[in-house]
Amino acid sequence: KGGNSVNETSSSMRVYVRIRPQNPKEIENNTRSIIQVVDENVLIFDSKEETEPFFFHGSKQNCRDLQKKQNKELNFGFDRVFGCNSSNEAVFEVSTKDIVKSLLDGFNCSVFAYGATGAGKTYTMLGSNTVPGITYLTIVELYKQMEILSSEKEFNLGVSHLEVYNENVQDLIQPSGPLHLREDSNYGVRIPGLSLHRITNADELFALMAKGNKNRTQHPTDSNAESSRSHSVFQLYIRMTNKLDRNLKIMKLSMIDLAGSERGSATGCKGMRFTEGSNINKSLLALGNCINSLAGGLKHIPYRDSKLTRLLKDSLGGNCQTVMIANVSPSSNSYEDTYNTLKYATRAK
Ligand code: ADP
Ligand code: MG
Repeated sequence: KGGNSVNETSSSMRVYVRIRPQNPKEIENNTRSIIQVVDENVLIFDSKEETEPFFFHGSKQNCRDLQKKQNKELNFGFDRVFGCNSSNEAVFEVSTKDIVKSLLDGFNCSVFAYGATGAGKTYTMLGSNTVPGITYLTIVELYKQMEILSSEKEFNLGVSHLEVYNENVQDLIQPSGPLHLREDSNYGVRIPGLSLHRITNADELFALMAKGNKNRTQHPTDSNAESSRSHSVFQLYIRMTNKLDRNLKIMKLSMIDLAGSERGSATGCKGMRFTEGSNINKSLLALGNCINSLAGGLKHIPYRDSKLTRLLKDSLGGNCQTVMIANVSPSSNSYEDTYNTLKYATRAK
């Protein structure tokens, strides 16, 4: 597999956990923190039953050490755990800074933010009013690296922003009707009608992203008024032309702010909202299955099981670099969600 040449020591899939700080409401209610960060790779998840705490850990060495100490089988692994004081800057430095190199080496890359509603996915990917997210920081880095290569290569960048909502694909920058996916043997997955916007710097990208995010489908639910039930897929296309021989390479970076991973039933939704819940689970489940099949080296990858995985078929597995950031809340209020997210992230390893 050519993708391994990018980084000899690790697989093309990396999984990070990010813990957000407790919010004012949680602090006010004095909720207990159920996560303890032990070191860069290890976190302890407090078991509800007050039996032994769960250990989630990263490096192989840590794994062996813990296994010895605990004298039991431990199958959890993360490439890094980011505690609640970690900044978007710090997350970027470790998780996505070096995928810029992979991109410019000619590989498609995908970055996923996974987690329950309110766990910090959008804060991580897009940022807040005052703090840029890792998408912006990654593109700033990309422009830096392109500048370094500019004597040999010519670059053209275009971005698109879509959402998958209820298994329908919608353009977020220029909303129109539902869009359809086509598979093209030369260009991979294509979406006729999806608007593509040229950008010349990271700030233009940020403006487009913020605009797209405003168009996301959001519906208040009982459990969280800012619930986001759609998957936001931001894609950057890089056309890189070699100035000497005019050789053209096209790469794609996908930044995906996934829909809330909480169970449909937990949100107290009925009717229409319930269908949404099951569709969201379908895409998240399919994504998990694809990632697992890829990690297990299986021949058949079930990309066709959902819109999201069909859409990302050319950006997962093979030579693609994939980063998964599992966002969790440390509060005991979110016990189930946090546990499920850690389990999902663990399965991805
Ligand atoms: P999600 O997109 O997963 O539903 P958000 O990113 O919207 O969650 O985060 C929920 C709230 O918590 C937001 O008000 C956000 O600004 C805040 N938040 C999330 N992560 C952090 C963080 N690491 N530091 C500070 N505030 C955060
Ligand atoms: Mg969000």
